[in-house]
Amino acid sequence: MPNIAGRLLILGGTTEGRALAAACANVPGLETISSLAGRTKAPLLPHGPVRVGGFGGVAGLAAFLRSERIAAVVDATHPFAATMTANAVAAAATAGVPLLVLRRPGWTERPGDDWHHVPSMAAAATLVPRLGERVFLTTGRQSIGVFAGIDACWFLSRSVEPPAPPVPARLEVVLDRGPFTLEGERELLARRRIDVLVSKDSGGVAPKLAAARDRGIPVLLIDRPPAPEVEQVATVAAALSWLAALGC
Ligand code: NAP
Repeated sequence: MPNIAGRLLILGGTTEGRALAAACANVPGLETISSLAGRTKAPLLPHGPVRVGGFGGVAGLAAFLRSERIAAVVDATHPFAATMTANAVAAAATAGVPLLVLRRPGWTERPGDDWHHVPSMAAAATLVPRLGERVFLTTGRQSIGVFAGIDACWFLSRSVEPPAPPVPARLEVVLDRGPFTLEGERELLARRRIDVLVSKDSGGVAPKLAAARDRGIPVLLIDRPPAPEVEQVATVAAALSWLAALGC
């Protein structure tokens, strides 16, 4: 069992971050603090102490690691939270604190899928009118502005909170938070007559992909930013093993 001197900082905002915080609560002697960016007004809170808001870049995070006696950092942020991850890598190196990235694997195409990979949100916006007219956007409200100038398509966007302008002229917003069901996703695609799905390659459970496969519609998949060059694991169990190896 880990018994590291000092606390574990979990950079969260994800299912994995919450699962790790919950698992750490069962480890005697392991104190954690979870960090959220503060993007949503009513976030799902992890178990245990939580701080909210940016650190103030690399220097701010390095200072936090020192002042809060942080002995290890697990970056469990979303695979597309590339700025936070890059800052964590730099700050952990500056402060001499061990860092692990906990990240769920990306998705794998299956028979019956019609996936179109693009490297960026901008590339997705260029390609989407060629793939369909009724678009289900599941990329989050912060990326919706990229699609604002596309008048040839009608968009259905799903996010926890409403998107801010600019937004596409022909847009319906569904405010919802997962987990979603296959039945629900099938019904949504059918009722809105969706003919293309746009998603980040977030990984994890995603019945929307199975529903798109069933419906025979293309999926425009935005590839992940490059992974940082630090140790990375895919499961909470592996993260706990890393902690155990550090402290006992
Ligand atoms: P980002 O672009 O990589 O980060 C921008 C800035 O936000 C960071 O430099 C940092 O500010 C602050 N920040 C981000 N995550 C933070 C955290 N966990 N704790 C404290 N500060 C944080 O991040 P993002 O893509 O906007 O994601 C923000 C949060 O939403 C993350 O916690 C992420 O796990 C979660 N999330 C993101 C997505 C997505 O698609 N990007 C999806 C689901 C959940 P300072 O420089 O001031 O420290």
